[in-house]
Amino acid sequence: MSIQQTTAELLQKVHTLSNARRDYFSQLPGVKVLAVTKNQESSAVRAALEAGITAIAENRVQEAVKKYADIKDMTEWHFIGHLQTNKVKQIIPFCHLIHSVDRQALAIEIDNAASKLNKCQDVLMQINVSGEDTKFGLPPGQAIQMARFLASLHNIRLCGCMTIAPLVEDMEETRPIFRELFYLFQEIKSLQLPNTKLEWLSMGMTNDYPIAIEEGANLIRIGTGIFGKRH
Ligand SMILES: *Cc1c(COP(=O)(O)O)cnc(C)c1O
Repeated sequence: MSIQQTTAELLQKVHTLSNARRDYFSQLPGVKVLAVTKNQESSAVRAALEAGITAIAENRVQEAVKKYADIKDMTEWHFIGHLQTNKVKQIIPFCHLIHSVDRQALAIEIDNAASKLNKCQDVLMQINVSGEDTKFGLPPGQAIQMARFLASLHNIRLCGCMTIAPLVEDMEETRPIFRELFYLFQEIKSLQLPNTKLEWLSMGMTNDYPIAIEEGANLIRIGTGIFGKRH
């Protein structure tokens, strides 16, 4: 199937799932599909944009910078990968939302780089809900403290949380992970910290997005489900 077709079908499925979910998620913005463009050529990215994708997500700085040079402001740019402090300043000029803030040193670097550009950088905290050693992210127990720290910085704005669920056979097994992140998100939101706008929950990928949407996700990150298997 072409990127055009897979994208159209995916957007239709997401639309149906969003409409079916419980009313209490309607306080948050609707579900946005991020096309994860790692290892994809700019031509593939353009095809996804033509098929109705409105935002793209990169997980490597070098690749993001290179593709941005081609595609520029035709779309909204998200950064979803592990971020080294020495690379922060390369993405701040064009990044709409950074999903992977997981330590204070990184937050300070983002705040400094954004301040030099007179920008307030929107970010999510990456939480390692499953606790797998192989995953980046803060332990859930440190999330509140980190949220308070982010609220104290002026050129960074906390907008929500992100997690990556374990890879499992049966996607149903991811439900408790997503549900826990939603509760944590609600808890942080209820603190009403200054300089925050808690409205995005980034969870769900090709293999588990239907469950994530049912549990409150409104940013889903789809690679294979749009572009096919990565080479
Ligand atoms: C690669 C990647 C995705 C997309 O994975 P698919 O299974 O191809 O949809 C989502 N989130 C992150 C952080 C990724 O690195």
